[in-house]
Amino acid sequence: MKTHHTAATYPGRKKDDLIVVAGAGGFIGGSLVRYFHTQGFTRIRAVDKKPLPVWYQRTPGVENLCLDLSDPDNCRRAVEGAAEVYNLAADMGGMGFIEKFRVECLRSILITTHLIEAAYHAGVDRYFFTSSACVYNTTLQQDPNARALKESDAYPAMSERGYGWEKLLSEMFCQEYAAERGMKTFIARNHNVYGPNGTWDGGREKAPAALSRKVVAAVDSGELRINIWGDGTQTRSFMYIDDCVRGIDMIMHSDELLATPVNLGSSELISVNDLVSMIEDIEGVKLKRNYDPSAPRGVAGRNSDNTFIKSKLGWEPNTPLREGMKKTYAWIKSQFMDRKAGKPTPAGEY
Ligand code: NAD
Repeated sequence: MKTHHTAATYPGRKKDDLIVVAGAGGFIGGSLVRYFHTQGFTRIRAVDKKPLPVWYQRTPGVENLCLDLSDPDNCRRAVEGAAEVYNLAADMGGMGFIEKFRVECLRSILITTHLIEAAYHAGVDRYFFTSSACVYNTTLQQDPNARALKESDAYPAMSERGYGWEKLLSEMFCQEYAAERGMKTFIARNHNVYGPNGTWDGGREKAPAALSRKVVAAVDSGELRINIWGDGTQTRSFMYIDDCVRGIDMIMHSDELLATPVNLGSSELISVNDLVSMIEDIEGVKLKRNYDPSAPRGVAGRNSDNTFIKSKLGWEPNTPLREGMKKTYAWIKSQFMDRKAGKPTPAGEY
Protein backbone atom coordinates (compact mmCIF):
# COMPACT_ATOMS: atom_id res chain seq x y z
CA MET A 1 0.00 0.00 0.00
CA LYS A 2 1.39 3.39 -1.01
CA THR A 3 1.61 6.07 1.62
CA HIS A 4 0.59 9.59 0.81
CA HIS A 5 0.78 12.99 2.42
CA THR A 6 -1.93 15.51 3.11
CA ALA A 7 -1.48 19.12 4.26
CA ALA A 8 -1.81 17.88 7.85
CA THR A 9 1.08 15.40 7.51
CA TYR A 10 3.31 17.16 4.98
CA PRO A 11 6.78 17.70 6.50
CA GLY A 12 7.32 21.35 7.35
CA ARG A 13 3.68 22.36 6.95
CA LYS A 14 2.41 24.13 10.05
CA LYS A 15 -1.19 24.46 11.16
CA ASP A 16 -0.88 28.25 11.10
CA ASP A 17 0.54 28.42 7.56
CA LEU A 18 -1.78 30.51 5.41
CA ILE A 19 -3.96 28.53 2.98
CA VAL A 20 -5.73 30.51 0.24
CA VAL A 21 -8.74 29.06 -1.58
CA ALA A 22 -9.89 30.92 -4.70
CA GLY A 23 -13.50 30.28 -5.73
CA ALA A 24 -14.42 29.63 -2.09
CA GLY A 25 -17.97 30.89 -2.53
CA GLY A 26 -18.57 28.02 -4.93
CA PHE A 27 -19.24 24.34 -4.47
CA ILE A 28 -15.79 22.73 -4.35
CA GLY A 29 -13.94 25.77 -2.98
CA GLY A 30 -16.42 26.15 -0.11
CA SER A 31 -16.10 22.47 0.75
CA LEU A 32 -12.30 22.65 0.60
CA VAL A 33 -12.26 25.56 3.07
CA ARG A 34 -14.44 23.63 5.48
CA TYR A 35 -12.23 20.55 5.05
CA PHE A 36 -9.01 22.41 5.94
CA HIS A 37 -10.73 24.09 8.87
CA THR A 38 -11.78 20.65 10.14
CA GLN A 39 -8.18 19.44 9.70
CA GLY A 40 -7.15 22.11 12.23
CA PHE A 41 -5.67 24.78 9.94
CA THR A 42 -6.06 28.11 11.68
CA ARG A 43 -5.28 30.60 8.91
CA ILE A 44 -7.47 30.13 5.87
CA ARG A 45 -8.31 32.89 3.39
CA ALA A 46 -11.40 32.30 1.26
CA VAL A 47 -11.77 34.41 -1.89
CA ASP A 48 -14.61 34.73 -4.41
CA LYS A 49 -16.12 37.43 -6.57
CA LYS A 50 -19.66 36.56 -5.48
CA PRO A 51 -21.13 38.70 -2.70
CA LEU A 52 -20.84 36.92 0.67
CA PRO A 53 -24.57 36.27 1.22
CA VAL A 54 -24.67 33.98 -1.84
CA TRP A 55 -21.63 31.84 -0.96
CA TYR A 56 -22.73 28.24 -0.46
CA GLN A 57 -20.75 27.92 2.75
CA ARG A 58 -19.02 30.30 5.11
CA THR A 59 -16.82 28.59 7.63
CA PRO A 60 -16.42 30.32 11.01
CA GLY A 61 -12.94 31.67 11.77
CA VAL A 62 -12.00 32.00 8.11
CA GLU A 63 -11.00 35.28 6.43
CA ASN A 64 -13.52 35.85 3.62
CA LEU A 65 -12.65 38.25 0.80
CA CYS A 66 -14.89 39.33 -2.03
CA LEU A 67 -12.48 39.95 -4.92
CA ASP A 68 -12.62 39.54 -8.68
CA LEU A 69 -9.54 37.44 -9.47
CA SER A 70 -9.45 38.33 -13.15
CA ASP A 71 -7.77 41.51 -11.91
CA PRO A 72 -4.01 41.33 -11.17
CA ASP A 73 -4.08 43.68 -8.15
CA ASN A 74 -6.82 41.60 -6.54
CA CYS A 75 -4.75 38.47 -7.16
CA ARG A 76 -1.76 40.04 -5.39
CA ARG A 77 -3.96 40.93 -2.43
CA ALA A 78 -5.48 37.42 -2.38
CA VAL A 79 -2.19 35.51 -2.17
CA GLU A 80 -0.22 37.81 0.13
CA GLY A 81 1.63 35.72 2.73
CA ALA A 82 0.22 32.41 1.48
CA ALA A 83 1.98 29.05 1.83
CA GLU A 84 -0.52 27.25 -0.37
CA VAL A 85 -2.91 28.52 -3.05
CA TYR A 86 -5.80 26.47 -4.45
CA ASN A 87 -7.38 27.83 -7.61
CA LEU A 88 -10.99 26.68 -7.85
CA ALA A 89 -12.32 29.93 -9.29
CA ALA A 90 -13.81 29.71 -12.77
CA ASP A 91 -16.86 30.76 -14.67
CA MET A 92 -18.41 27.35 -15.07
CA GLY A 93 -21.49 25.19 -15.05
CA GLY A 94 -22.98 22.00 -16.47
CA MET A 95 -23.44 21.27 -20.18
CA GLY A 96 -26.28 23.80 -20.43
CA PHE A 97 -23.87 26.55 -19.40
CA ILE A 98 -20.61 25.56 -21.05
CA GLU A 99 -22.15 24.91 -24.46
CA LYS A 100 -23.85 28.31 -24.46
CA PHE A 101 -21.31 30.62 -22.81
CA ARG A 102 -17.96 29.76 -24.37
CA VAL A 103 -16.60 33.29 -24.14
CA GLU A 104 -17.22 33.44 -20.39
CA CYS A 105 -15.54 30.04 -20.01
CA LEU A 106 -12.52 31.12 -22.05
CA ARG A 107 -12.19 34.32 -20.02
CA SER A 108 -11.39 32.23 -16.92
CA ILE A 109 -7.88 32.21 -18.39
CA LEU A 110 -7.51 35.68 -16.83
CA ILE A 111 -7.86 34.13 -13.37
CA THR A 112 -5.26 31.52 -14.27
CA THR A 113 -2.69 33.96 -15.64
CA HIS A 114 -2.96 36.59 -12.89
CA LEU A 115 -3.31 34.24 -9.93
CA ILE A 116 -0.35 32.02 -10.79
CA GLU A 117 1.83 35.05 -11.55
CA ALA A 118 0.87 36.68 -8.25
CA ALA A 119 1.48 33.41 -6.39
CA TYR A 120 4.89 33.06 -8.01
CA HIS A 121 5.96 36.57 -6.97
CA ALA A 122 4.57 36.07 -3.47
CA GLY A 123 6.83 33.01 -3.15
CA VAL A 124 4.06 30.57 -2.25
CA ASP A 125 5.26 27.07 -1.49
CA ARG A 126 2.58 25.15 -3.46
CA TYR A 127 -0.01 26.00 -6.09
CA PHE A 128 -2.99 23.89 -7.15
CA PHE A 129 -5.18 24.14 -10.25
CA THR A 130 -8.48 22.32 -10.92
CA SER A 131 -8.63 21.21 -14.49
CA SER A 132 -11.42 19.09 -15.93
CA ALA A 133 -12.25 15.95 -17.90
CA CYS A 134 -13.42 18.41 -20.59
CA VAL A 135 -9.76 18.69 -21.71
CA TYR A 136 -9.96 15.18 -23.17
CA ASN A 137 -10.12 14.65 -26.90
CA THR A 138 -13.84 14.73 -27.74
CA THR A 139 -13.40 12.29 -30.64
CA LEU A 140 -12.70 9.56 -28.05
CA GLN A 141 -16.06 10.15 -26.36
CA GLN A 142 -18.62 9.46 -29.08
CA ASP A 143 -19.78 6.12 -27.72
CA PRO A 144 -21.96 5.70 -24.59
CA ASN A 145 -19.94 2.54 -23.76
CA ALA A 146 -17.31 5.04 -22.80
CA ARG A 147 -13.74 3.85 -22.82
CA ALA A 148 -12.26 5.25 -19.60
CA LEU A 149 -10.02 8.23 -20.30
CA LYS A 150 -6.42 8.07 -19.21
CA GLU A 151 -4.20 11.10 -18.73
CA SER A 152 -2.41 10.74 -22.09
CA ASP A 153 -5.77 10.95 -23.94
CA ALA A 154 -5.70 14.75 -23.76
CA TYR A 155 -3.21 14.91 -26.65
CA PRO A 156 -3.42 15.22 -29.63
CA ALA A 157 -5.83 17.84 -28.37
CA MET A 158 -9.45 18.26 -29.42
CA SER A 159 -10.89 19.51 -26.13
CA GLU A 160 -14.45 20.63 -25.45
CA ARG A 161 -14.91 24.00 -27.18
CA GLY A 162 -14.40 26.98 -24.88
CA TYR A 163 -14.30 25.49 -21.38
CA GLY A 164 -12.07 22.50 -22.24
CA TRP A 165 -9.49 24.49 -24.17
CA GLU A 166 -9.23 27.06 -21.38
CA LYS A 167 -8.53 24.26 -18.91
CA LEU A 168 -5.90 22.69 -21.17
CA LEU A 169 -4.08 26.00 -21.58
CA SER A 170 -4.28 26.65 -17.83
CA GLU A 171 -2.70 23.23 -17.22
CA MET A 172 0.09 24.31 -19.52
CA PHE A 173 0.65 27.48 -17.49
CA CYS A 174 1.10 25.34 -14.37
CA GLN A 175 3.48 23.02 -16.20
CA GLU A 176 5.64 25.83 -17.60
CA TYR A 177 5.79 27.74 -14.30
CA ALA A 178 7.17 24.52 -12.83
CA ALA A 179 9.58 23.82 -15.70
CA GLU A 180 10.88 27.34 -16.25
CA ARG A 181 10.53 28.96 -12.83
CA GLY A 182 10.78 26.00 -10.47
CA MET A 183 7.35 26.60 -8.95
CA LYS A 184 5.64 23.66 -7.25
CA THR A 185 2.38 23.33 -9.16
CA PHE A 186 -0.19 20.52 -9.03
CA ILE A 187 -3.08 19.75 -11.37
CA ALA A 188 -6.19 17.57 -10.95
CA ARG A 189 -8.47 16.76 -13.86
CA ASN A 190 -11.78 16.64 -12.04
CA HIS A 191 -14.52 14.52 -13.48
CA ASN A 192 -18.13 15.47 -12.56
CA VAL A 193 -18.43 16.33 -8.88
CA TYR A 194 -21.70 16.28 -6.93
CA GLY A 195 -22.85 16.69 -3.35
CA PRO A 196 -24.52 19.05 -0.91
CA ASN A 197 -23.68 22.77 -0.97
CA GLY A 198 -23.40 23.06 -4.73
CA THR A 199 -25.32 24.54 -7.63
CA TRP A 200 -28.80 23.01 -7.93
CA ASP A 201 -30.78 25.53 -9.97
CA GLY A 202 -30.38 28.52 -12.27
CA GLY A 203 -28.74 26.98 -15.36
CA ARG A 204 -25.24 26.09 -14.13
CA GLU A 205 -26.19 22.92 -12.27
CA LYS A 206 -25.03 19.50 -13.43
CA ALA A 207 -27.00 16.31 -13.99
CA PRO A 208 -27.15 14.84 -10.42
CA ALA A 209 -28.35 18.15 -8.93
CA ALA A 210 -30.65 19.01 -11.85
CA LEU A 211 -32.31 15.59 -11.83
CA SER A 212 -32.67 15.65 -8.03
CA ARG A 213 -34.35 19.06 -8.21
CA LYS A 214 -36.68 17.86 -10.97
CA VAL A 215 -37.73 14.83 -8.91
CA VAL A 216 -38.34 17.00 -5.83
CA ALA A 217 -40.38 19.45 -7.94
CA ALA A 218 -42.40 16.68 -9.57
CA VAL A 219 -43.30 15.17 -6.21
CA ASP A 220 -44.04 18.59 -4.73
CA SER A 221 -46.35 19.61 -7.57
CA GLY A 222 -48.03 16.22 -7.83
CA GLU A 223 -47.35 16.20 -11.58
CA LEU A 224 -45.36 13.02 -11.76
CA ARG A 225 -43.32 13.79 -14.90
CA ILE A 226 -39.66 14.48 -15.57
CA ASN A 227 -37.98 16.15 -18.54
CA ILE A 228 -34.64 14.53 -19.48
CA TRP A 229 -32.02 16.13 -21.73
CA GLY A 230 -31.11 13.97 -24.74
CA ASP A 231 -32.25 10.34 -24.87
CA GLY A 232 -30.92 9.44 -21.42
CA THR A 233 -28.39 6.93 -22.76
CA GLN A 234 -25.44 9.29 -22.25
CA THR A 235 -23.11 7.93 -19.57
CA ARG A 236 -20.92 9.64 -16.98
CA SER A 237 -19.19 8.98 -13.68
CA PHE A 238 -19.84 11.20 -10.68
CA MET A 239 -17.47 11.86 -7.76
CA TYR A 240 -18.77 12.68 -4.30
CA ILE A 241 -17.52 15.99 -2.90
CA ASP A 242 -15.77 14.43 0.13
CA ASP A 243 -13.63 12.32 -2.22
CA CYS A 244 -12.91 15.40 -4.31
CA VAL A 245 -11.51 17.54 -1.46
CA ARG A 246 -9.52 14.63 -0.05
CA GLY A 247 -8.08 13.92 -3.51
CA ILE A 248 -7.14 17.58 -4.02
CA ASP A 249 -5.28 17.56 -0.70
CA MET A 250 -3.40 14.34 -1.54
CA ILE A 251 -2.47 15.43 -5.06
CA MET A 252 -1.22 18.81 -3.81
CA HIS A 253 1.11 17.06 -1.35
CA SER A 254 2.45 14.33 -3.60
CA ASP A 255 5.89 15.44 -4.82
CA GLU A 256 5.78 12.71 -7.46
CA LEU A 257 2.83 14.48 -9.11
CA LEU A 258 4.60 17.81 -9.59
CA ALA A 259 3.11 19.59 -12.65
CA THR A 260 1.49 16.34 -13.73
CA PRO A 261 -2.23 16.32 -14.60
CA VAL A 262 -3.98 13.48 -12.82
CA ASN A 263 -7.56 12.21 -13.13
CA LEU A 264 -9.63 12.88 -10.05
CA GLY A 265 -12.94 11.16 -10.64
CA SER A 266 -15.08 8.17 -9.89
CA SER A 267 -14.88 5.16 -12.19
CA GLU A 268 -18.48 4.08 -11.43
CA LEU A 269 -20.14 4.65 -14.81
CA ILE A 270 -23.91 5.27 -15.02
CA SER A 271 -26.34 6.38 -17.72
CA VAL A 272 -28.60 9.37 -17.15
CA ASN A 273 -31.59 6.99 -17.33
CA ASP A 274 -30.18 4.82 -14.54
CA LEU A 275 -29.35 7.91 -12.49
CA VAL A 276 -33.00 8.99 -12.75
CA SER A 277 -34.08 5.51 -11.60
CA MET A 278 -31.69 5.75 -8.63
CA ILE A 279 -33.13 9.10 -7.56
CA GLU A 280 -36.71 7.84 -8.03
CA ASP A 281 -35.80 4.93 -5.82
CA ILE A 282 -34.33 7.18 -3.12
CA GLU A 283 -37.54 9.25 -3.10
CA GLY A 284 -39.81 6.20 -3.55
CA VAL A 285 -41.59 7.46 -6.67
CA LYS A 286 -41.92 6.58 -10.38
CA LEU A 287 -42.15 9.41 -12.90
CA LYS A 288 -43.24 9.57 -16.54
CA ARG A 289 -40.17 10.44 -18.61
CA ASN A 290 -40.17 12.98 -21.45
CA TYR A 291 -37.01 13.13 -23.52
CA ASP A 292 -35.80 16.38 -25.07
CA PRO A 293 -33.52 15.55 -28.01
CA SER A 294 -32.81 19.23 -28.71
CA ALA A 295 -31.35 19.91 -25.21
CA PRO A 296 -27.56 19.97 -24.65
CA ARG A 297 -26.26 16.49 -23.84
CA GLY A 298 -22.48 16.77 -24.14
CA VAL A 299 -20.35 13.84 -25.21
CA ALA A 300 -22.02 10.41 -25.46
CA GLY A 301 -19.94 8.77 -22.76
CA ARG A 302 -17.14 9.60 -20.37
CA ASN A 303 -15.43 7.70 -17.58
CA SER A 304 -12.27 8.14 -15.53
CA ASP A 305 -9.37 5.70 -15.89
CA ASN A 306 -7.92 5.63 -12.39
CA THR A 307 -4.85 3.47 -13.02
CA PHE A 308 -2.47 6.42 -12.63
CA ILE A 309 -3.91 7.93 -9.43
CA LYS A 310 -4.04 4.46 -7.82
CA SER A 311 -0.41 3.83 -8.75
CA LYS A 312 0.68 7.15 -7.20
CA LEU A 313 -1.61 7.50 -4.18
CA GLY A 314 -2.85 3.97 -3.55
CA TRP A 315 -6.33 5.50 -3.52
CA GLU A 316 -9.16 6.51 -5.82
CA PRO A 317 -12.50 8.24 -5.20
CA ASN A 318 -14.65 5.47 -3.80
CA THR A 319 -17.88 6.74 -2.26
CA PRO A 320 -20.67 4.61 -3.81
CA LEU A 321 -22.90 6.78 -6.00
CA ARG A 322 -26.04 5.70 -4.23
CA GLU A 323 -24.65 6.70 -0.85
CA GLY A 324 -23.59 10.15 -2.08
CA MET A 325 -26.84 10.68 -3.99
CA LYS A 326 -28.90 9.98 -0.87
CA LYS A 327 -27.16 12.84 0.95
CA THR A 328 -27.28 15.12 -2.08
CA TYR A 329 -30.96 14.47 -2.71
CA ALA A 330 -31.82 15.15 0.94
CA TRP A 331 -29.91 18.45 0.82
CA ILE A 332 -31.52 19.61 -2.43
CA LYS A 333 -34.95 18.71 -1.10
CA SER A 334 -34.31 20.79 2.01
CA GLN A 335 -33.12 23.74 -0.13
CA PHE A 336 -36.17 23.44 -2.35
CA MET A 337 -38.50 23.45 0.66
CA ASP A 338 -36.63 26.34 2.30
CA ARG A 339 -36.95 28.38 -0.86
CA LYS A 340 -40.63 27.55 -1.11
CA ALA A 341 -41.00 28.82 2.45
CA GLY A 342 -39.34 32.10 1.41
CA LYS A 343 -35.96 31.51 3.07
CA PRO A 344 -32.76 32.65 1.25
CA THR A 345 -31.13 29.67 -0.47
CA PRO A 346 -28.14 30.25 -2.76
CA ALA A 347 -28.79 27.91 -5.67
CA GLY A 348 -26.21 28.99 -8.20
CA GLU A 349 -27.96 31.79 -10.05
CA TYR A 350 -25.69 34.82 -9.72
P1 NAD B 1 -18.69 26.85 -8.76
O1 NAD B 1 -19.29 27.63 -9.89
O2 NAD B 1 -19.59 26.38 -7.68
O3 NAD B 1 -17.50 27.68 -8.11
C1 NAD B 1 -16.64 28.49 -8.83
C2 NAD B 1 -16.53 29.80 -8.08
O4 NAD B 1 -15.58 30.64 -8.76
C3 NAD B 1 -17.84 30.57 -8.02
O5 NAD B 1 -18.22 30.78 -6.69
C4 NAD B 1 -17.53 31.86 -8.73
O6 NAD B 1 -18.17 33.00 -8.18
C5 NAD B 1 -16.02 31.96 -8.59
N1 NAD B 1 -15.44 32.84 -9.58
C6 NAD B 1 -15.71 32.88 -10.92
N2 NAD B 1 -15.02 33.87 -11.50
C7 NAD B 1 -14.32 34.47 -10.51
C8 NAD B 1 -13.43 35.58 -10.48
N3 NAD B 1 -13.15 36.27 -11.59
N4 NAD B 1 -12.87 35.93 -9.30
C9 NAD B 1 -13.19 35.25 -8.17
N5 NAD B 1 -14.02 34.22 -8.13
C10 NAD B 1 -14.58 33.82 -9.29
O7 NAD B 1 -17.92 25.62 -9.43
P2 NAD B 1 -17.27 24.33 -8.74
O8 NAD B 1 -18.11 23.18 -9.13
O9 NAD B 1 -17.00 24.57 -7.32
O10 NAD B 1 -15.90 24.23 -9.56
C11 NAD B 1 -14.65 24.64 -9.02
C12 NAD B 1 -13.54 24.35 -10.01
O11 NAD B 1 -13.53 22.97 -10.35
C13 NAD B 1 -13.69 25.10 -11.33
O12 NAD B 1 -12.42 25.43 -11.82
C14 NAD B 1 -14.31 24.06 -12.23
O13 NAD B 1 -14.04 24.34 -13.58
C15 NAD B 1 -13.62 22.81 -11.74
N6 NAD B 1 -14.38 21.59 -12.06
C16 NAD B 1 -15.58 21.34 -11.47
C17 NAD B 1 -16.28 20.18 -11.77
C18 NAD B 1 -17.61 19.87 -11.14
O14 NAD B 1 -18.20 18.86 -11.48
N7 NAD B 1 -18.13 20.69 -10.24
C19 NAD B 1 -15.75 19.27 -12.70
C20 NAD B 1 -14.53 19.56 -13.30
C21 NAD B 1 -13.84 20.71 -12.96
